[in-house]
Amino acid sequence: MTDSPTAEFDAVVVGAGMAGLYSLWRLRRLGFTAVAIEQGDGVGGTWFWNRYPGCRCDVPSLEYSFGFSPELEQEWEWTEVFPSQPEIERYLNHVADRFDLRRDIRLSTKVTGATYGEDARTWTVSTDAGDAITARFVIMATGALSVPQVPAIDGIDDFAGPLIYTSTWPHDPVDLAGKRVGLVGTGSSGVQATPELADMAGHLWVFQRTPTFTWPSHNGPLDPAVQAEAKAHYRALRAGQRTSPGGVTGSTGAIILQSAEEQRSILEASEEERLAALEELGWDGTRVWGDALVDPDANEAAVELYREMVRRTVDDPELAESLSPRGFPMHCKRPVIDSHYFETFNRDDVTLVDLRQGGIDRIDATGIQTAQGHYDLDVIVLATGFDAMTGAATRIDLRGRGGRLLRDEWAGGPRSYLGLQSAGFPNLFTVTGPGSPSVLANVVVCIEQHVEWITDCMAHMRERGFTEVEPTVEAQDGWVDHVNEIAAPTMMVAPTCNSWYVGANIPGKPRALMPYVGGLDRYTAACDEVVADGYRGFVFT
Ligand code: NAP
Repeated sequence: MTDSPTAEFDAVVVGAGMAGLYSLWRLRRLGFTAVAIEQGDGVGGTWFWNRYPGCRCDVPSLEYSFGFSPELEQEWEWTEVFPSQPEIERYLNHVADRFDLRRDIRLSTKVTGATYGEDARTWTVSTDAGDAITARFVIMATGALSVPQVPAIDGIDDFAGPLIYTSTWPHDPVDLAGKRVGLVGTGSSGVQATPELADMAGHLWVFQRTPTFTWPSHNGPLDPAVQAEAKAHYRALRAGQRTSPGGVTGSTGAIILQSAEEQRSILEASEEERLAALEELGWDGTRVWGDALVDPDANEAAVELYREMVRRTVDDPELAESLSPRGFPMHCKRPVIDSHYFETFNRDDVTLVDLRQGGIDRIDATGIQTAQGHYDLDVIVLATGFDAMTGAATRIDLRGRGGRLLRDEWAGGPRSYLGLQSAGFPNLFTVTGPGSPSVLANVVVCIEQHVEWITDCMAHMRERGFTEVEPTVEAQDGWVDHVNEIAAPTMMVAPTCNSWYVGANIPGKPRALMPYVGGLDRYTAACDEVVADGYRGFVFT
């Protein structure tokens, strides 16, 4: 099947990460034929590519796992509270083998375009291998954080030594022993990599443009009793995930803060009570304040507590100041979870380069030239992020009705109905795309909910003899307005916050909040209501 230059399937699935694997499983179970096209030479998506030292998930293992197979839940043993990249990659390979999914996966092949034929009501999907695959449906399982950002730094190709992206870390071991290593970027990837690179390198320079809000993960070995308890009650746990805003129950050995009952008001707390929260909870005492999520004064008070924790952790006061976030609110970016990040800067063999004192001018053959001077380096590691949520879809020539290009339709910001479909692109579905909670919740639960909705919709069409589904422009506009309205009171859209949630990390990308902030529970209810109401807002032909 996969050797044929042309083929006909019910669905082409783009990607064989978690979303692609589950899509294949569910399509097959419902009797649809499908092929998954994957650019990597292995399955796992994010967990195939991001294999940098320290790479780890920030959702507890027992919850960052598929719920579609009770047998899988029972047989797989997690070893840590938060799973490391190698463990998740092993798990996903096990899933691919256990359910015999590989026979429908074409590896090392990149989808370059897909064109909708209005007469035949099919998509023709082209790949860099020269395929033209026709299918009624296309499911974009391309991931929200799958297109690495190449930073706009002059001379980036001039460096004589290895220049490594965390997001495409080599499979072969990288020998950093005794080496002068420069790490650019202090988001989730950079923060996770910092302590590990410090251990591996001769000397580590961390180039920081914006300080980070990061909290200790409290990771550790998974208590067998907690694992047994979860396995005994997995159905209830999965149900709890679906009805929670973040897709996490917090019952699986991890400390999950900011559940409603833990939120306090910092504006109503005295200075003594604020500091007492630090004594009681350490770093977590900076983020138990519910009013900081929506009130700028409360937020700044919480940020000051955070800076106090940095001062308590970092020995050198000047260095502590350099590592302290200032000028943008807490909770506007994705929270980062770390293992001894700030403590790492107390090491003699680790140096922070605070780029606010003088930015990067260029990379040259021997290192990084900044306005503060030149740093001689043997290896440069770039943890500079992703063209998030829209990057994968807009890099593919997706041509819908009348030849319109998705990239053009989204030029002013992504537009979709329920994050599932865009008007003008019939039978093209997006898993965890813009307009859905995806990156703001446990993505595995989001993936399962999306894939089930999509494949149920396909089954509904088959039963009734429909060949085409597409949202109306009115329904799409209504959803985009709703996504923006509910985000308006939150810190995520603060003008001082340049996060990837709003596309601000990519030069030229329109500033638009991409994820749905209303919570997975509310979102799922909205999707279910649409179906119960006869697929309100969708047109079937
Ligand atoms: P990121 O959060 O976008 O961070 C990129 C970092 O690179 C930022 O510190 C950014 O600085 C810096 N940067 C970008 N271009 C630069 C330049 N030209 N010069 C200097 N610095 C530059 O990317 P990420 O760390 O890869 O994380 C992305 C997302 O992936 C996370 O938010 C999370 O959702 C996910 N992730 C999760 C985990 C986990 O589960 N624990 C781990 C890794 C990633 P500015 O802030 O100034 O732009």
